[in-house]
Amino acid sequence: MEKHLLSKSTFIRGNQCLKSLYLNKKRPFLRDRLSPEQLAKFKRGHKIGELAQQLFPGGIDLKPKSPSQYRKKVVETAEVIRNNSYQTIYEAAFQYDRLLILLDILTKENGKWTACEVKSSFQLSETFLLDAAFQFYVMNGLNLQLKDFFLVYVNRDYDFSATPDLNKLFVKESVLEKILGLQDYIREQVAREKETLLLEKSPAIEPGPHCTRPYPCDFIGHCWKKIPREEWPHPPESNENFYELLSRLVGFD
Ligand code: SF4
Repeated sequence: MEKHLLSKSTFIRGNQCLKSLYLNKKRPFLRDRLSPEQLAKFKRGHKIGELAQQLFPGGIDLKPKSPSQYRKKVVETAEVIRNNSYQTIYEAAFQYDRLLILLDILTKENGKWTACEVKSSFQLSETFLLDAAFQFYVMNGLNLQLKDFFLVYVNRDYDFSATPDLNKLFVKESVLEKILGLQDYIREQVAREKETLLLEKSPAIEPGPHCTRPYPCDFIGHCWKKIPREEWPHPPESNENFYELLSRLVGFD
């Protein structure tokens, strides 16, 4: 199995900016350092993913301990599916056409697989749909028939003062119809991103509003260095209040 060229996160990075995709692969040393707030945000995202796994108990966790285990986990996922040894897999790994995904939850009911991707957010966004569409594209390419695809996110109206109830904390929304309609776009964008990675120089993309949408790019220090600091983009505000309530419920910092 060849090493993957794009993962879900690099695909989303390339969808935001092809220059960011290129620099991330070829000039990673130009990346801005992660702030403590960003590190904390990643950590919370993982914790919420683990919490949502409890909605589907009894599964096998195939989460790789490091990127060097990706290919091993792809093989293990294929074995679990082939042997039908578990009905739920956390962090199932798939690779198709040098595209790698790790799906949060894959679960089987009445002989049919359903995919769930967990988001530490109160609502769905276009980026989450693209992310799900990319994952569907990979699994469909491997002929894994999915009965449905859900995005799982946090219920905005959850009563944090009540007895903890995961079924009320999370909202499960089927996005299968929507992501089916995005498959042509995914195929075209994958081709654009693969072509970009073959370039000798980074694509000539000027800094602009896309540098913080949907996510603050980590090459702002590099691309904006000739622009006065006061004109640099500000990252979108995070919802600290939400995380504080959630941390009280599940006990993470
Ligand atoms: S800072 Fe802006 S232009 Fe530069 S790589 Fe990031 S998104 Fe692209």
